[in-house]
This record gives sequence, structure tokens and C-alpha cells, in this order.
Amino acid sequence: MSRLVVVSNRVGPIRDSARAGGLAVAIVDALKRRGGLWFGWSGQVTEEGTHGRLKTEEAGRISLATIDIDQSDYETFYAGYANRTLWPVFHYRLDLARFDRDLLRGYWSVNERFAARLFPLLGPDDTVWVHDYHFMPLAAKLRAMGAKHPIGFFLHIPFPVPEVLASLPRWHDLMRAMLAYDLIGFQTERDRQAFVRYFLEEEGGSFDGEWLEVNGRRVRVGVFPVGIDPQAFRRFAASPEAERQEQRMRQVLGDRLQLIGVDRLDYSKGIVQRFEAFGRLLEQYPENLNRVTLLQVAPPSRSDVEAYADIREGLERFAGHLNGLYADIDWTPIRLIVRAFQRRALAGIFRASRVGLVTPLRDGMNLVAKEYVAAQDDADPGVLVLSRFAGAAEALDGALLVNPYDTDGTAEMLQRAVTMPLEERRDRWRRMFEVIERDSAENWWTSYMTALRASR
Ligand code: ADP
Repeated sequence: MSRLVVVSNRVGPIRDSARAGGLAVAIVDALKRRGGLWFGWSGQVTEEGTHGRLKTEEAGRISLATIDIDQSDYETFYAGYANRTLWPVFHYRLDLARFDRDLLRGYWSVNERFAARLFPLLGPDDTVWVHDYHFMPLAAKLRAMGAKHPIGFFLHIPFPVPEVLASLPRWHDLMRAMLAYDLIGFQTERDRQAFVRYFLEEEGGSFDGEWLEVNGRRVRVGVFPVGIDPQAFRRFAASPEAERQEQRMRQVLGDRLQLIGVDRLDYSKGIVQRFEAFGRLLEQYPENLNRVTLLQVAPPSRSDVEAYADIREGLERFAGHLNGLYADIDWTPIRLIVRAFQRRALAGIFRASRVGLVTPLRDGMNLVAKEYVAAQDDADPGVLVLSRFAGAAEALDGALLVNPYDTDGTAEMLQRAVTMPLEERRDRWRRMFEVIERDSAENWWTSYMTALRASR
């Protein structure tokens, strides 16, 4: 079996599975089983940048190799083209996107330098798997250096339709560079269709449902929904730490129902719209006053990108307004906690919550939706209210689907969720749990690797 080389912007953590997000857990699992190399950014900004020392670390069968970037790379590549241009455009937020040639140049240049540092580390039989929007042109750069390896790409975030993609200056260059991959994977059929449409409409390509052909070059394009490890998450949910959190919550709640939201503070997550829908629920269905409460957990992220700085303030203002309007001596409608929790504690909080609110305006998959379902059990499961714009909505048909832009419609769904009878909750939960077991993290990487092997 050939060695697996994973490339992603951030590398690790390998040992601390309680801290690692869903994605890191899946990659570590793949690397542990097959053995392999994980290459990426060290997370450090230094003067030498990409020209500095290669930092290596061995952890069992996994080797880590990372390099630094310099301040200019950080500004143009990471906090620049990746997170100020590609992220907003791919999440349909053209109003927040910055289009700037310096950022674009930084992005391509960092990709070239990462390829140059990675290429000498590759053995002849290696298989390379590149992750996410930071490194879309990496294969093209590796090929230019002579790499003949199977190279696959997986996009964790949504892919926009051509009408939106066209807002990127030099979009043709970016898209043509993608043809250097052997396999390109997306979270959903919707993303795959959007990607393929570009080549059909702009490059005269053809697509047979699996293979994309453009000017004689054939690339496989597949759908691989990212999942969680449902059994591991259930173990988290049954841990003493989870139980302690659950008890703490239930004491505070009494016989009230809790709605839970857990998201990085990101404009794509639709948290303000969620707060508005909750306000509408209290207004339209006043029987919920002093009976339901919303807990929002939202640790800050990317706070050096302008668009992120104001989100927290907006949420605090809205929560303050709503709490001022409705709070009672023993009841606060919205509680906002802006820090991260250990995954075991999160699982306990999910268990104590009757409704999971996952209402992003756009999301590649959304693992919180799957974690919420995995934390429930058959005896008294909660209800998942899920945005139709989350990748997870393509398969989780047991959820109550909402359009997060539609405040009234979402409030109606919230009312349905807090009044749903046990039998219906059970039925919906079972259907969702089946999907989560089927689309597990392990199934994600094994089916991707199988497809990559078959695409050469
Ligand atoms: P994204 O990758 O855009 O942040 P996902 O929902 O796909 O969104 O993944 C988020 C991951 O981060 C999940 O595994 C979730 O449990 C974790 N997470 C989110 N918020 C918190 C928090 N407050 N504390 C701990 N973990 C969190």
C-alpha cells in the first residue's frame, strides 16, 4: 500500500482528541491506520517564513512536517486571499469579499513555495491528498515540478455556482489549475454540480456523472460527505464529564426546554438570524415565555479579519435587547457564552438540550448537526432544526429543515420543535442516526482513498 501524504493548512493536533475538531480527528484516523506524512503550516509566523527550517515530529506511524510563513504571507495568503476572498465568495458573501491583486499573488506564491518544500519529501509510491481552499493550486505547482503521483483534493467548504464564482478576478486560472488533480471531492451533490457547471459552460468540457473531461484531460469528481465518529461521540456523551455538565444544566433549567447553538463566531453561521427567529418565537407564541431558553456557545475565530470583529458585538446587543424585553426573575431568554468547551462537556450540553439549532446561511457540511444527533439517545431524543443551506441537509431528512433568512418560517419550525411529541422525535432521530452511522468519518476517508486509487 502506498504511503499517504496529507496536506492541509493546519496540522494536528494528533493526541488531544478532546481538543481536535471533527476534521483533524478524521485525518488522524486515516493516517494512523495507513501510516503517513502530514504536511502543512506550523501555525508560526517568522522572518524566514517558508524558507526556514522544516519542523518534523514523529507520532507512532504518523510523521508531521511543517514550515512557517512570514508576516506578508500571513496577510496576503492566510488572512488575505484564503479568508478574505475565497471564504466569503464560496459562502455567497460577495459583500464581504476583498478583491486585491496583492492577496491573489500572495496566495499563488505561497502555494508554489509549499509545493517546492513538499516535492523533495515525496517518495515515488506516495499518494497525495490535499485539503481545502487554502491549497487549490497546489497540484498544478507540484506537476510543474515533475510530480507524477496520484494527487487528490477535497473541498471542505461549499462550492459556488459559476455566476458567483465569476466575481473572482482570474477565476479561469484557479479553475484550470484544478485539472491537475486526479480526484476532486466535494461534500454534496450541489457543490459537485456547481463545480462541473463551470467547466461545461466556460471551458467546453463534458461530464458523465463521474468523470469530467476538458480538452483531453480527464478528472474524477466525487461526493464524499464528511462525518463524525458516532461511537466515539456517544462515548463522550456517556462520560462522567458529560454527565456532570448535563446535571448542571438540568438543575438550572428545571422543567424548561433548552435550545442549543454551538458555532465558531462566523458570519456564515447565521447566529444573528437565529436570535431573531428565537425572538419571533417568543413574540408569536407567548406560551414559551419562561418556558424555553436559548443557549448559544460561540468561541471567537479569525478575529484579525475585519468582518469577524463586529459579530460578537451584534450578538451581545441583540441578546441584551431581547433579554431586556422578556427576562423574568428566574429566566433569561438568551445566554451567550463566547468560549470553547471540551468535547465531553459539549456532549453533555447537547444531551440537556431539547432542540439543536444549526442554521447557517451556508455551510460545507456542519459537524455540529451530526454531533448533536449522536449525543441523543432513543429514550428521549431532541429535535434537530437544520438550515437547508448546510451540506448536512442533503442527507439528514429527519431534521426540521428551515430557510434561515425567513424569520417567521424559522420561528414556526421552532414552535414545532418545542412541541413535538416523543414518538415523532424518536422516529426522526432514528432516521438521522442511521445516516450518521453510514456517513461516518471512517467511511469518508476510506471511500475517498478507494476512489483516488481508482482514478489513476
Ligand atoms: P466549522 O468547521 O465551520 O467550524 P463544523 O460544524 O463543521 O464547522 O465543525 C465545528 C467543530 O468545532 C465541531 O466538531 C464542533 O464540536 C467544534 N466546536 C464548535 N464550537 C465549539 C465550542 N464552543 N467548543 C468546543 N468545540 C466547538
